[in-house]
Amino acid sequence: MVRPVPVINPATEEAYATISLGGQQDTNMAVAAAQSAFGDWSSSTPEIRAAYLKALLAVYERRKADMAQAISDEMGAPIDLALGDQTGAGSSHLASFIDALGKMNFERPMQPELAGQDLRLEAAGVAALITPWNWPMNQIVLKVGAALAAGCTMVLKPSEISPISAMVFAEMIDEAGIPAGVFNLLNGDGAGVGTMLSGHPDVDVISFTGSTRAGIAIGRIAAEGIKRVSLELGGKSPNLIFDDCDIDAAARRGTLAVFNNSGQSCIAPTRMLVERTAYDRAVEIAAETAKQTKVDAPSKPGGHIGPVVSAAQFDKVQRLIQSGVDQGARLVAGGVGRPEGMNRGWFVKPTVFADVTPDMTIMREEIFGPVLTMMPFEDEDHAVALANDTEYGLGSYIQSDNPERARRIARQIRAGMVQVNGSGRAAGSPFGGYKMSGIGREGGVWGIEEFLEIKLISGIK
Ligand code: NAD
Repeated sequence: MVRPVPVINPATEEAYATISLGGQQDTNMAVAAAQSAFGDWSSSTPEIRAAYLKALLAVYERRKADMAQAISDEMGAPIDLALGDQTGAGSSHLASFIDALGKMNFERPMQPELAGQDLRLEAAGVAALITPWNWPMNQIVLKVGAALAAGCTMVLKPSEISPISAMVFAEMIDEAGIPAGVFNLLNGDGAGVGTMLSGHPDVDVISFTGSTRAGIAIGRIAAEGIKRVSLELGGKSPNLIFDDCDIDAAARRGTLAVFNNSGQSCIAPTRMLVERTAYDRAVEIAAETAKQTKVDAPSKPGGHIGPVVSAAQFDKVQRLIQSGVDQGARLVAGGVGRPEGMNRGWFVKPTVFADVTPDMTIMREEIFGPVLTMMPFEDEDHAVALANDTEYGLGSYIQSDNPERARRIARQIRAGMVQVNGSGRAAGSPFGGYKMSGIGREGGVWGIEEFLEIKLISGIK
C-alpha cells in the first residue's frame, strides 16, 4: 500500500514534493537486499571499501550544489549555511572515514609478543540507520560512511520531514558504483518503518540519531533481538563563562552558536552560565547579539537564520518560550510570535532569557529553537554543579584564559565533548554523549568501530 506524504518547505509552508512511506513488505525487501549483499561486501578488503568511499566523495563534491538546495528546501537552512556547514559536513566525514580506514588494522595479533592469539575485526551485519532532519547530511554520512567502511550493508530511513537530501545522496551512491544491495534507502515514519527496522530479525545493528523519546522506543524493541544499538540523542549543553576571559567575545560567540541552524543542533550551547562578576555584561551582549541576528528567507544568501523545520517544531518552541515567561525568567530579547513583518513560514524570534533558575522548564528541556537561557554562578564548584545538573551529557563549553582551570573543569563535566574558548572539533573526532544523550560514538575510527564485531582466533601459529 502506497502512503503518500507531502514534503513541506518550512519557509513557505507549501508542499513541494511527495514521498511514499514504506510498509512491512518494503522493509522486508530492503533488509533482504542488504542481507544478500552482505557476504561480498563484508569480505571485501579495506582498500576496496576505501576506493568506493573515494569515488563517493568525488561525486558528492561534484553535486554539492544539488545537495545544498535539497537541504535548504526541505529543512529551511539558509542557502549559504546549507552549502557550507550542512553539505560540508558530509565531505568532511567521508574524508575522515577514508583516512581512518587507511590506519585501521582489521587483522592483528592481540599483543605483539603473544603468538597464536589473533584479533579480527568483522562487519557486524545488516545495519538499520535512522536519521533526523536537523543536520541531514551530517547524520546520514556519519552513519552510512562508517557502515560502508566497516563492511556492513544497510537500510537508511531518513526523516520523513527531510527525505529529499537522502534521495540525492542515494543517487550519488549509485553514481559512485557501490554494488547493488549494499545501500538501501527506505522512506517511512517512526511508527512505521522506524519501528519495523528496530525489531526486524535480520537487522544486526541499529544506529539512531534523534529524540530521546524515540531512542528509548528503539532501544526497547532492539533489546528483544539483542541487537547492537548506538544512540545519538538530545542535549542541553552548558557554556561556562569565567570572568578571566574576553566576556564580550565569549558571550557573543556563545549566543551565535545557539542561533545557528535556527537553534536546531543537539550540541547547541543553550545554557549560558556566567561568573557573577561578568554576568550583567554577558546578558547585555547576548541581548544585543539576538537583536542583531537577522531572520530571513533561506533562499537569500547571507548569514541570517531561517525558519524552524515544521509547524510542530514551531509550536513546541513557542510553548517553551511562553513557559519561560510564565515561570518568571527575564526576557531580554525576542519572545513569542513571528519576527516583525513575517506572517508566513515557521520563523522564530531569536530569544534570550536571563535569570533562569535550574527548576524552570526552559533550563531543563531541549528547546531546539533559537532560544538562549542564562544564569549566574558563584565559583568553580557551583559552575560544575550547574553544568552537570541535567539529564543530558552531550556537548559542553568552557570560556577561560586560565588553561589549568579549563582542564580542571573539563575533567569534572559529564559530557562527551568539552570545547574550550571556541575551539572546533577536529575531523574524525568522537561524537556522542553521556547519560540521556546516548550510547556510543560517531566519527572517524570510533564511528567505524560501532559497526564492527571483535573475533578472537587462538591456536594458529
Ligand atoms: P524524532 O526522534 O521523532 O525523529 C528522528 C528520526 O527517528 C526520524 O527518522 C523518525 O522518523 C524516527 N523515529 C521517530 N520515532 C521513532 C520510533 N519510535 N522508532 C523508530 N524510529 C523513530 O525527532 P523529531 O520528531 O524529528 O524531533 C523531536 C525532538 O527531537 C526535537 O525537538 C529535538 O529535541 C529532538 N531531536 C534531536 C536531534 C539530535 O540531533 N539529537 C535531532 C532531531 C531531533
